[in-house]
Amino acid sequence: MSPRASRIAGGALLSEVADGVHRLEHACVNLYVVADDDGRLLIVDTGLPAAWEPLGHALRALGHRPSDVAAVVLTHAHFDHIGTASRIRSRLAVPVWLHPADAAVAAHPYCYSHESARAMYPLRYPASLRILAAMVSAGALRVRGVPDTQPLGPETELPVPGRPRVILTPGHTYGHCALHLPDRGVVLSGDALVTLDPYTGSRGAQIIAGAATADSAQALASLDRLAACDTGTTVLLPGHGDPWSGSLTAAVEQARARGAH
Ligand SMILES: [Zn+2]
Repeated sequence: MSPRASRIAGGALLSEVADGVHRLEHACVNLYVVADDDGRLLIVDTGLPAAWEPLGHALRALGHRPSDVAAVVLTHAHFDHIGTASRIRSRLAVPVWLHPADAAVAAHPYCYSHESARAMYPLRYPASLRILAAMVSAGALRVRGVPDTQPLGPETELPVPGRPRVILTPGHTYGHCALHLPDRGVVLSGDALVTLDPYTGSRGAQIIAGAATADSAQALASLDRLAACDTGTTVLLPGHGDPWSGSLTAAVEQARARGAH
C-alpha cells in the first residue's frame, strides 16, 4: 500500500495518484475520480457492481457529495469497467461517454470479441485464480448493460471535468480509448496498457491476454499513441495494477517486448 493510500469500505484502496486524480482499486479493478477546480467530478471507468458502495465512501472521504459527479467516461465496455455505470447514470442523471464502436458491448456486456478461449487460462496461470475469484465475488457475473451512451470522439477535448483529450487505442476492444490529462501529467490507459493482467496474474507493463483482447496486433500498434503523450514525467494510470511512474515510452517498450500472450 502506498503511503498516501487508505483502505475504505469493502477492502477498496483509495489513493491520490496525481493532482486531483484519485485511484479507487476494488477487486483488482481500478476506477478513477478526477476533480476540477470547481469541485465537479469525472469518474473514469466504474468497476464491478460491488464497487458502488466503496465509490460512495470514496466520494465522502474526498469531501464530495454524489451530486458533484458531472460525467462518467468508460475507456471501453468490458463488464469489469461498466459494472456501476447504469446505476450511476440513473441515480445521478449524468452522461456516460463511450466510443460508439463499444456501444453494442455496453448493451450486452458478455458478448465481446476475444482471441483465445478463456477456460484454459486459470489452469495455465494459477496466479489468476485469486484475482478472478475476487472479480466474481464483486459481481462480475451480474453486470447490467448500459444501452444509452454518449459517443466519444477521438482526438477531441471532452467537455467534462478535467477536460481530458481522447486517444483512440483500439485492440483490447475495437472502441477502446485512453484519456490524456496533460495538465495533471497523467494518461488513463484503461486496458490498452496495464500493469497487472487479471487473466494471467502477471505484473509489469503489458497488453492484456488474448482471453479478453479482441486483436492483440492492433493493441500493440495502438501503444504508439500512448508513447506520443510521454513527457518523461507522465504517469500511466491503468485499468488494472499500480500506476507506472517511469517513462511511458519504457512502459510501451516493456509491453512490446512481452508481446501477445
Ligand atoms: Zn479490465
